[in-house]
Amino acid sequence: MGEDKALTPRDEDFSAWYNGVVQRGQLAGYSPVRGCMVIRPHGYAIWELMQKALDARFKETGHQNAYFPLFVPQSFLQKEAEHVEGFAPETAVVTHGGGKELEEPLVVRPTSEAIIWPIMANWIQSYRDLPLLINQWANVVRWEMRTRLFLRTLEFLWQEGHTAHATDEDAEREALLILDIYRQFMEEWMAMPPVTGMKAEWDKFAGAVRTYACEALMQDNWALQAGTTHNLGQNFARAFDVKYQTEDGEHEYVWSTSWGVSTRLVGGLVMMHSDDLGLVLPPKLAPIQVVIVPIWKSDDEKARVLEAGARLKSALGDGLRVKFDDRDTLNPGAKYYEWEGKGVPVRLEIGPKDLKKRQVMAALRFSEDPKQRKLAIPETEVTGRVPELLNRIQRALLDAALRRREENSYRGVTDYAELKKIVASGGGFIYTGYCGAEECEAKVKEETKATIRVIPDDDFASETFPDECICGGPAQHEVVWARAY
Ligand SMILES: [Zn+2]
Repeated sequence: MGEDKALTPRDEDFSAWYNGVVQRGQLAGYSPVRGCMVIRPHGYAIWELMQKALDARFKETGHQNAYFPLFVPQSFLQKEAEHVEGFAPETAVVTHGGGKELEEPLVVRPTSEAIIWPIMANWIQSYRDLPLLINQWANVVRWEMRTRLFLRTLEFLWQEGHTAHATDEDAEREALLILDIYRQFMEEWMAMPPVTGMKAEWDKFAGAVRTYACEALMQDNWALQAGTTHNLGQNFARAFDVKYQTEDGEHEYVWSTSWGVSTRLVGGLVMMHSDDLGLVLPPKLAPIQVVIVPIWKSDDEKARVLEAGARLKSALGDGLRVKFDDRDTLNPGAKYYEWEGKGVPVRLEIGPKDLKKRQVMAALRFSEDPKQRKLAIPETEVTGRVPELLNRIQRALLDAALRRREENSYRGVTDYAELKKIVASGGGFIYTGYCGAEECEAKVKEETKATIRVIPDDDFASETFPDECICGGPAQHEVVWARAY
């Protein structure tokens, strides 16, 4: 199975470690189709929890789900010039169907603007139809040359929001609202605090006026672009002739946005928290939050601990996701290993000695203080203490992630030599002034592989930033550099 191999230590080879964690956690694997992954049940369960949380937020903020076709007529994709230029190199194209050559090739959606707008154009007549707030959960295909499980695969799952508004301000507000929903979700659910901001002009979504992104710092100090929102201005409305009648009876193009997060988030979650034993999951996104492992030697002990374990499971109730691992084909050590590798936040052990002492032993998958990883809990307090422990782990993971991010953020970096030194000695988020020239970034990228991640939002921007860009030219604004996935 290849799942019992020792993990490559995180500090030795981060990439091999990552693959090992994904394998040991039984999250995903490669398939017979190059670059396409199979998401295994444990990985899919994490994605479902993510979907549920995000979907609730989208609906609370007035969005509705719909579903559009997988195929996009090639001519549709060509209607928005920048869009086709951006996506054409990575599209898969269907030329035959039912044994015949198609009159017009069909592109497998790399994103859905080009199929959604011609359809939604018919749903919009007047200002009364706006805003139109649609989301779809779907798969998309981008023909990537180099792939990695969850982080970059030919086919991936995501949600894509598509909205139409009466004014530019409304579209901008929407793009920022969703950016904030993403940020909150990443902080509160994933314990993965991102830096948010605007993408540089040449790094925008193909066809967007402005692109905003959440960038999270992984444990190897590389950034992961974890979610993006786009203010599309009237670009797609013009390309697909999406007009509405204003209150004054004029006909205007709508203002639109699109936004998405994908199964890439699962990869981010893995890289954010896991350790040399395997997966570490924040309790809110753990498919199994608590595993109960009974320990016995004799048949008599077995009967008693199984009975106690079953009682404990029902006492913990339906509010928690609890697994009672009563398999008698594995010894407790093998069970610990399996559930550690799957990132279960709390393990409760019940053996004959615990029964005698009327207690259970709790082992936490994550604790900032290793000495607090194991504790005895009196039987009568378990139902109250376990939810508390889960909250504590959720909080501790976020605290650790925030601290790591701040410890590896370098503000006010003024010269290129310093930036190079930081990148060479492990990297992180490097804040500098920036002149705004694309060639300036291109040079740094070529020489250090670091790129501009975002122009940071007010919440993340430094109080002041250097007057000069690292190239020596006058700085127009602050940017955050990092090597990125
Ligand atoms: Zn410059």
